[in-house]
Amino acid sequence: MKRAIFPGSFDPFTIGHESIVLRALELFDEIIIAIGYNSEKKGFFSVENRIKIIEEIFSDEKRVSVKKYNKLTVDFCKEQNIKFILRGLRTASDFEYERAIAQMNHFMENDIETVFLLTEAKHTPVSSTILREILKYDGDVCKFIPKCIDIKKYL
Ligand code: ADP
Repeated sequence: MKRAIFPGSFDPFTIGHESIVLRALELFDEIIIAIGYNSEKKGFFSVENRIKIIEEIFSDEKRVSVKKYNKLTVDFCKEQNIKFILRGLRTASDFEYERAIAQMNHFMENDIETVFLLTEAKHTPVSSTILREILKYDGDVCKFIPKCIDIKKYL
């Protein structure tokens, strides 16, 4: 059985993230969305609420689960006995950043591979950073959140 983790901050989870997960379900039998958090750094949404948002989005998809971790991604993979890291790529600058991390992870753990999926063109501008900015001014983010779920209740 092929399993992958999809690590990130997901603060909050967007339609861009969802599309990567759904497309990756054609490649993997099971995907764990892994929220990497730093206990000293407070997010916009709490880690617990980010988990609740993702659980609500994937409530009908048994092959997708969500976990949090506060350690090196490769160590979390080893702990979960997973060999594939899934990441999405939007732009050339995403690529440069992701390339270094993926190569370093591979350097540290030779049997862990990072698999990249290119974003769908329409999702290229969608980012959690911009959604947080819209939310700060009480704007409507519904069309950027899977199933248009009301994430403001998690603020
Ligand atoms: P991080 O803080 O690790 O970058 P994010 O939550 O911002 O975490 O992103 C997690 C992963 O999802 C990264 O691989 C990122 O490139 C990817 N991603 C973010 N937004 C999109 C999008 N709109 N389309 C496809 N992939 C995306």
